[in-house]
Amino acid sequence: MKPTVWHILGAGSLGSLWATRLARAGLPVRLILRDEVRLAAYTAKGGLTLSERGQRHTFAIPAQTLNADEPIERLLVACKAYDAERAVASVAGRLSPGADILLLQNGLGSQQAVAAQVPDARCIFVSSTEGAFRDQDFSVVFAGQGFNWLGDGQQLDGPDWMAELINAAIPCEWTGDILGRLWRKLALNCAINPLTVLYGCRNGELQAHAAEVGALCDELSRVLRACGQPDAATGLHEEVFRVISATAANYSSMYQDVAQGRRTEISYLLGYACQAAARHGCPAPLLDQTRAKLIAHLLTKGLPDN
Ligand code: NAP
Repeated sequence: MKPTVWHILGAGSLGSLWATRLARAGLPVRLILRDEVRLAAYTAKGGLTLSERGQRHTFAIPAQTLNADEPIERLLVACKAYDAERAVASVAGRLSPGADILLLQNGLGSQQAVAAQVPDARCIFVSSTEGAFRDQDFSVVFAGQGFNWLGDGQQLDGPDWMAELINAAIPCEWTGDILGRLWRKLALNCAINPLTVLYGCRNGELQAHAAEVGALCDELSRVLRACGQPDAATGLHEEVFRVISATAANYSSMYQDVAQGRRTEISYLLGYACQAAARHGCPAPLLDQTRAKLIAHLLTKGLPDN
């Protein structure tokens, strides 16, 4: 039996990291690019390049546009959270009944929006701690080893094709509590990233604002419990400070987005946390204040506030 094709929607940092590793393992991969202009730019490059431990390799992965007519049985959505819903809508007509859709987006909210849009597909949420960035168009640098948790919130066991990920050296495991994982990562992000933007600092410099970070952690823990995620609240405070010291020299992803004039994923991180708190009647004044300050900051930079 022929292996199922991995369709990768979004050839940015993470999409390229997954696509090149799958192709390297000999698996069939197709990139889905937004239009003919991007397809021409990709063709001119001759493939997708992965830089890992100083070694560069280019993989001539076949690519197509959203409008191609090849049916899709397995789709990896690697767009930003704010692009995911629209991007999936553009290929919804190509999805085979019961198709698997892996959603790599950070934060929460976009995954549920996509799932509601394609009720006949099986949506699998992924929480990734791997790190990658683009050094050029269609060229990705594997910058941080990490792990990928997959789950659909229903099944306790993962699909057989997870063996393909392991063979492709994509570290992953299935979890019965993917929402807990995503909530935990969202809380870590909310406690660290907005403050690095507001104070214009590296992660480690938040040690100087430990009281404020600690108060945010207390509030986030209450919100997590109110949202039915008590496990994600356990030890949050300690983990936030562990991350701050382990990544002291790094600039957070949100800091980098703002510094490079790119739209942030605020609505799916801090925005989602504030809305969830309000929905559950859990007061979160510090989170609300931090969000308002961040929005004001983004607007002064001419960046979208959502
Ligand atoms: P990225 O580098 O900006 O890549 C996003 C890609 O999506 C871009 O290549 C973009 O195309 C493409 N795209 C957007 N809309 C599209 C559409 N309608 N059709 C086709 N392609 C479309 O983003 P990223 O850093 O990989 O992040 C993706 C998600 O993973 C985010 O939610 C992020 O938070 C999460 N994440 C990233 C990392 C990381 O290290 N990068 C780690 C963990 C989680 P163009 O190139 O044409 O603009």
